[in-house]
Order: sequence, then C-alpha cells, then structure tokens
Amino acid sequence: LLSVERLGKSFHGRRVLDDISFDVRAGEVIGLIGRSGSGKSTLLRCLNMLERPDVGRIRLDGEEIGFQGGQRRAVPARVLARQRAAMGMVFQHFNLWPHRTVLQNVMEGPVAVLGVPHAEAASRAMVILERIGLAAKAGSYPVTLSGGQQQRVSIARAVAMQPRLILFDEPTSALDPELVAEVLAVMTDLARSGTTMLVVTHEMRFAFEVCHRILYLDQGRVADGGTPAALLARPAGSPVRGFLGAAV
Ligand code: ATP
Ligand code: MG
Repeated sequence: LLSVERLGKSFHGRRVLDDISFDVRAGEVIGLIGRSGSGKSTLLRCLNMLERPDVGRIRLDGEEIGFQGGQRRAVPARVLARQRAAMGMVFQHFNLWPHRTVLQNVMEGPVAVLGVPHAEAASRAMVILERIGLAAKAGSYPVTLSGGQQQRVSIARAVAMQPRLILFDEPTSALDPELVAEVLAVMTDLARSGTTMLVVTHEMRFAFEVCHRILYLDQGRVADGGTPAALLARPAGSPVRGFLGAAV
C-alpha cells in the first residue's frame, strides 16, 4: 500500500532522516518508536507532504506522491490535494474547529474536499460518532469536551475522509493520564477492524500489543524493525532494548 524508499531530509545541513526505507501493507498497523529528536514527526510530515524530502520516493498504491516523472518536479495542486486526502493525520494537539459542532467538524472534510452531499456526510459522520461513543455530543462544541473526547473527534474526522491509511503523531501525549485509555481504545478498535495505521507513540503497551510491526528510529535511521515478539527477543545490549529499557 505504502512504500518508502531511501528517504532523506536535512535541516540546515543536519541530517534528520537518513536513508529510510520500509513498506506498509494494507491493514497493517505499524508503530514508530524512538527517542525525542530521532525524526519520527519529520517522517510522518514527509509522508503527509507537510515537509518535502530531499531524496527518496514515497509511493501510495504504486503512485509516487509529491513529485512526478522521476525528476523532483512537484505535482499539480489538484493531484497534491487528492494524494493528501488519501492519508489521514491525527496530531498530538487535536486542532478541531472551535466554532463548529462535533458533527460539523467530522462532516466538513467529506463535504468540502470530497464533495459528498451534505445529508449523506451527516449520516456517515453520525455512524462514526456512534462507533467512538460520542453520538450524544454531536451538537456540542469542542471546548465543552474533555481532551480525550476531542482527540476521539479528531480521529473520527480522519476516519470520515475514508483515507487509505491514517498517520498518528503521539495522539495521547498531550492528554491527562486518565484520558489516554479511551483514545487508545478507539485506536485499538480501528486497528482490529483493518484500518491501515502508522502510529508514532510513547505508549509501549499499545505499540507492543496492537501493532503488527514496530520500527525503531535512531538519529534519523531505521535502527531496528520487526514484530513486537522479534524486538522483545533482541539480546540485552541491542539498541532497541537499550531504548525500551524497563518499559516493556
Ligand atoms: P519527539 O519525540 O520529541 O516528537 P521526533 O522524533 O518527532 O521527536 P522530529 O520532530 O522529527 O523528532 O525532529 C527531528 C530533528 O529535526 C530534531 O532535531 C528537530 O530539532 C529537527 N527539526 C524538525 N523540524 C525542523 C524544522 N522545521 N527546522 C529545523 N529543524 C527541525
Ligand atoms: Mg515528534
């Protein structure tokens, strides 16, 4: 589904992503772990075209995204918009539209970007809100919701676009500890229902229990990767074990 080939990115001459390659199959849930500054967010931002890689290719369903024709020529805005809509993104800070209700937040993308008729978008949005347990809040404004509820709405907003995959960048790290579980529960439900997901997280329990594969980033490189069981079986003293320490 997604293929990342020899991706590289530097900021001011400092290499932040270094020769990153990996593939994601449809239905796979991939965890991205690593120390602060290892390049996890930059990698997601390159995938989502919020950041432009210096070298390398990203393909979604076989189509190179962001560039065309093998040269480093940017694709037209119309194509860019289509490619971007194919990947949902959930951020640490939920950035919902404050002056729109929960329902309006979830419907907005499908109506404005995909051209889904209003009534159909509304009924689809309600189905998603029911699934995440927030149907009763459809008419509420984001400010009246808890952080966990707001983050669940932002996940609903991503799901509503019916993307090919959803990227998550530390979706629970801005939440009070007691609100983390409800967001992870929604993500686990999505994962189990076959949504393709790429999740940057410090929640090691989630990573090791829900993700099919985990990539460990260190200084911009994929220093290790494999199934949770494979990573846990690495010898003491290996880089990924050093990172995990006592966490798992
Ligand atoms: P964290 O766990 O703290 O979120 P991260 O793994 O997501 O870390 P990135 O945010 O990808 O790390 O940052 C990787 C490196 O790139 C850091 O050293 C950061 O300072 C640098 N960096 C990221 N974005 C920019 C930018 N726009 N300009 C310059 N440097 C940047
Ligand atoms: Mg980050």
